[in-house]
Amino acid sequence: MRLRELKGIGEKTEQLFAKAGVTDTSQLPFYFPRSYDVFREPVLVGEIDEDGVYTIYISVFSDVEQKTLKKLTVTTVFAVDEQGSRVKLTWFNMPFMKNSLRRGCMYMVRGRVVCKGSLVTMEQPKLYTPAEYEQKLHYIQPIYPLVKGLTNNMVIKAVTQYFAIDKNKDNFEYMPKELLERYELMPLNDAIVHIHFPRGTDEMFRSRKRLAFDEFFAFFMQMDILKGKREYLANECYITEHEEVLRLISELPFKLTAPQKKAYDEIMADMSGSRIMNRLIQGDVGSGKTIVAVLALVNAVLSGYQGAMMAPTEVLAKQHYDTMCRLFDEHHIPVHPVLLVGSMTAADKRTVQEKIKNGEADIIIGTHALIQNKVEYNNLGLVITDEQHRFGVNQRSMLAKKGGHPHVCVMSATPIPRTLAIILYGDLDISVIDAMPAGRLPIKNAVVGEDFRPNAYRFIINEVAKGHQAYVICPMVEESEVSESENVKEYTLELKNKLPGISVEGIHGQMSADMKNEIMERFASGQTQVLVSTTVIEVGINVPNATVMMIENAEKFGLAQLHQLRGRVGRGDAQSYCIFISTSKKKETKERLDIIGKSNDGFYIAEQDLKLRGPGDFFGIRQSGDMIFKLADIYTDADMLKKAKDCADYVITHNMQNNLKKTFTDEEIML
Ligand code: ADP
Ligand code: MG
Repeated sequence: MRLRELKGIGEKTEQLFAKAGVTDTSQLPFYFPRSYDVFREPVLVGEIDEDGVYTIYISVFSDVEQKTLKKLTVTTVFAVDEQGSRVKLTWFNMPFMKNSLRRGCMYMVRGRVVCKGSLVTMEQPKLYTPAEYEQKLHYIQPIYPLVKGLTNNMVIKAVTQYFAIDKNKDNFEYMPKELLERYELMPLNDAIVHIHFPRGTDEMFRSRKRLAFDEFFAFFMQMDILKGKREYLANECYITEHEEVLRLISELPFKLTAPQKKAYDEIMADMSGSRIMNRLIQGDVGSGKTIVAVLALVNAVLSGYQGAMMAPTEVLAKQHYDTMCRLFDEHHIPVHPVLLVGSMTAADKRTVQEKIKNGEADIIIGTHALIQNKVEYNNLGLVITDEQHRFGVNQRSMLAKKGGHPHVCVMSATPIPRTLAIILYGDLDISVIDAMPAGRLPIKNAVVGEDFRPNAYRFIINEVAKGHQAYVICPMVEESEVSESENVKEYTLELKNKLPGISVEGIHGQMSADMKNEIMERFASGQTQVLVSTTVIEVGINVPNATVMMIENAEKFGLAQLHQLRGRVGRGDAQSYCIFISTSKKKETKERLDIIGKSNDGFYIAEQDLKLRGPGDFFGIRQSGDMIFKLADIYTDADMLKKAKDCADYVITHNMQNNLKKTFTDEEIML
């Protein structure tokens, strides 16, 4: 059914939904909330120990003040809670609030509380009478991912209507009763309704668990199909080790670490073996995965094949391209790398594509542009994907269509505990690079509060004076407040003031690829000394001269992501530092951040993180952007991951595929 047929949705709203990926009402139940807003019991001002949304029962004791700053009207009033603690209430561009407030009157107010020193301010609060609030109490409001123009209320209304109309029509459940009982699963219909409108936190968690299970289950079923197809694939691209590569290894400015050498040997054994390679190289950030990939690529070329390396971002692809060009040049390696990324002009792309097609180009580096239909390879023998979780099924079949079955190697720095890795990567062989290059000094960490910020800036000034560089990860913004780009711009400006004479630049995800490349190039060349960034910087970037990473709002990130961010420094010989700034005073947050403050070992951190997390953390923190599951999180939902694996194995060994009211094919995008 078209969305327009729902009440209150016209052509315009329909277009907004389309932008968010919803073009038919049947997609609405699967447009899951990204988080929830719970109407909790009112609190006293003294109980607030962290910024956040609260409800307070207050009595207004001042007159309403209204000021206009630039084009902004600010309405302010002062109040006290039941114990007499002061709180300031402010509204922006809501001059009519003046008429709703009276000195001496009592209100329930709900809004975002910001504590600056001893002053507690509530921004844009909504007013309720105690009776109204009583009605709302414990209500859990879904918060949906939005696009510009689409409001949360629009989505709530649409989803509500969908369930009202289609309540009995859709039966989402595909699991037979036997399996539902065996694996103690909540019925899928309930889970889908309650993920949108849970009547309590317990219902919310249980719904989420069921949906996480389904995502993992689909993954394992598809993987099984894939495995069946792969097991018999004979090696058609016979790639062996060449003299030139041995020479290159001996000429490198460093000696390969033992696990680097082992991973390289395993790759070479695979590529010269009887079956095609499907290997995962797992190694912590900075462990030196790139060089292993490069050596494999050169061997592929010297064996008469083309090799491709795919990176998740243009910035990273460009960096790999530059690194390789320099290396091949310096050591006279007879290969011809090209770069193929989306932001190139059509003409440039055509030229490169022509070179790929006629075989003139033998190492092809790029983003997903590499597997697009327009790219025809001459003789592709090896594909390496960097910093990607896995290679999707779709992508594999895209490559297969390009002729032949190239060897596939996936490189990942995601520190997945061994037990989970074996489950997740059941169809891949794994090499682990578990040692850092010799001579690296461990990164020194500091977990500190906001009052440390001036010291951090001074520290950066000192490091820059020594010729080093620094990254600063911007504070996070609420989606509703300012845009990501505004936020980076503002912080960059502020930092320029705080760091006089130092060149500071900002980078964020909404910039064009060209712009990002230019900024990264200036930073990599040392022209820019301090780079302000959002988390776009997290994957792969290698600027060994950077020695400081300062992370604002560290409390809002998952530990695995913080570890990735920190991995941008400590890549050279100099001592590096990571400063985690936290605005939270909560004990649990402090404990969590202390884990990363005290260890530089990604695997240890991931394991500790897993142990520390309770069910309450579900929606607070997403581990990282590179997770491909829509809702499930391999860390927090590790229990469901295991269950789904068991269930998939059970279905397959008992030949129950036909008992499922759903088929799983390898055409679906899996990852
Ligand atoms: P990651 O594993 O995070 O992708 P990179 O491959 O980017 O790490 O390597 C990080 C840095 O370490 C690079 O500057 C690289 O040249 C350097 N490096 C790689 N291997 C070694 C080694 N065995 N000894 C010293 N430095 C190395
Ligand atoms: Mg890397």
